[in-house]
Amino acid sequence: MAEEWKEGPAIGIDLGTTYSCVGVWQNDRVEIIVNDQGNRTTPSYVAFTENERLVGDAAKNQVARNPTNSIFDAKRLIGRRFGDPLVQNDINLWPFKVIEGSKDKPMIVVSYKGEDKQFAAEEISSMVLKKMREIAEAYLGKTVKNAVVTVPAYFNDAQRKATMDAGGIAGLNVMRILNEPTAAAIAYGLDNVGRIGKRNVLIFDLGGGTADISLLTVEDNSFEVKAVAGDTHLGGEDFDNRMVNHFVQIFKRWHKKDISGNARALRRLRTACERAKRILSSAIETAIEVDSLYDGIDFSSNITRAKFAELNMHLFRNSIELVEKCLTDAEMDKKSVHDVVLTGGSTRIPKVQQLLQDFFDGKELNRSINPDEAVAYGAAVQAAKLSGLGNERLRDIVLSDVTPLSLGVEVKGSDMSVVIPRNTAIPTKMKEFYSTAADNQTEVLISVYEGERARTLDNNWLGEFELQGIPAAPRGVAKLKVCFDIDANGILNVSAKEKTSGTSCKITITNHKARLSSEEINRMVREAEIFKAEDDERRERAKAKAALENFAYRMRNTINDKEKCAKLVPVQKKKIEAAVVQMIKWLDGIQLAEVVEFEEKLLGLKLICDPLIRAQNI
Ligand code: ADP
Ligand code: MG
Repeated sequence: MAEEWKEGPAIGIDLGTTYSCVGVWQNDRVEIIVNDQGNRTTPSYVAFTENERLVGDAAKNQVARNPTNSIFDAKRLIGRRFGDPLVQNDINLWPFKVIEGSKDKPMIVVSYKGEDKQFAAEEISSMVLKKMREIAEAYLGKTVKNAVVTVPAYFNDAQRKATMDAGGIAGLNVMRILNEPTAAAIAYGLDNVGRIGKRNVLIFDLGGGTADISLLTVEDNSFEVKAVAGDTHLGGEDFDNRMVNHFVQIFKRWHKKDISGNARALRRLRTACERAKRILSSAIETAIEVDSLYDGIDFSSNITRAKFAELNMHLFRNSIELVEKCLTDAEMDKKSVHDVVLTGGSTRIPKVQQLLQDFFDGKELNRSINPDEAVAYGAAVQAAKLSGLGNERLRDIVLSDVTPLSLGVEVKGSDMSVVIPRNTAIPTKMKEFYSTAADNQTEVLISVYEGERARTLDNNWLGEFELQGIPAAPRGVAKLKVCFDIDANGILNVSAKEKTSGTSCKITITNHKARLSSEEINRMVREAEIFKAEDDERRERAKAKAALENFAYRMRNTINDKEKCAKLVPVQKKKIEAAVVQMIKWLDGIQLAEVVEFEEKLLGLKLICDPLIRAQNI
């Protein structure tokens, strides 16, 4: 079975929020495949009617007639909870119905062949993937089973897993889930292999639904991702929405009628707005005309490029701020960026290009990659590489992505102990050693968190498991190895093992409670910066407390060991014992004291324990 999967061609699919694109490596180069309508990109739309199911252009073309059963934006739902505020926000904007399914899973409700049907986002995405597969099969004249599928850089485990599931439902063997900006970088880097020296490349991907910024260093044949920043809710659709709102207001002013409650009217207006927006990338002004928009009223108006830019200036600026954040994270000055690469359909907007160029002090932007195709291009290269096809140049490419947030476990009640720091290249495997927090403790709860704050309370909980069967021993004796393993798809496995007994346990963070959105990640990183001083102080105090605690428990364990304190006279032993017991009692009774207080107490205890320390060479 496994061997069978490897056979046949391997394609690259850019599964976009608004448009998808498919490519294949053929005759030593990437071919972007046109669909049955002759288009190189296909709308990520699925529509249900009385008689049939439509996917792609056919679905988008009938949207105005059938707005409640035409599904788009499934990528905004995939791997998310129904209760996610972003999902709730989106539901208000969508003409189709989304309800809460079991386990807080959002379910899309449509009427299909006269019956109500529910679909999960991964099912809708699987229909789009299947369409892309069929486009490739029609072109290649062969069955296609293997594919590399791309996702935004900030997609979390749940979203990546759900995208993989969508591939599985579409009958595809998803060889790799690849970050979109990385895919664009492959497309870019491949064209530039052979250039001398190391180059810092910023990929600015502004599509229909998401903004993904990544900073890479490209050297010889390898790309290293230095940092990523992004927003899963910033793109062309948001620009369309602003324009729609603008015209809803104008319609209200002119005709004293509010069309905002009418899904069909809004959809028709949105289609006209998207078209106008595209035109404004090359023209200074354009007309909007929608016959019989509402109550039989024909709507006709104009919009200038400047007005469109003004309506969206705030969003455009946000995308530039992401660039700034990405550079800050990578600790790189903008002057050190050699290339700024534009990808995603919305990078065609002149104002966006101008703001980006201004940010880079007038630097020429790199537009050599077709913005709509770069991601699929890179995915096709990666697919060929993974299936052992392609030429030597292709095989040499090494790729790495990074973790968007630090990952760690909870220690001492509520402290965050980082195992994998933020922006670590993946795949990666890191371990840390811990011990028990109480005497004769036979089980420990390993709670996994992501975030930048010192306290787990301020971070995001990902999951937990209990390691049982630890041999009873005084506190601090057991040695627990906790291992974090992130695979090439960005999926996290956490395992824990107790050394002496060999007992072990692990979890995969698939997360039923879906993980964070990019907005939340950005907010957490921002807050972490604001609270840095406070957190640093807390870390210092926790460290000082841990040092005192560890010393006190070690002394107690030693004093309980007859052999080890054989050299002590009883009065010495008693004195040490009393001091240690008192210290442990004090430690148990407090939360956190000042660093100096812990340090002074440690020094005092050390002086009392001097004879024991000397006897034991501690
Ligand atoms: P995604 O991958 O997020 O689906 P794409 O990279 O395919 O996005 O870009 C699609 C977006 O680009 C849509 O919002 C579309 O309206 C917008 N777009 C396409 N062409 C242009 C253009 N010429 N000017 C402005 N926006 C454009
Ligand atoms: Mg895209």
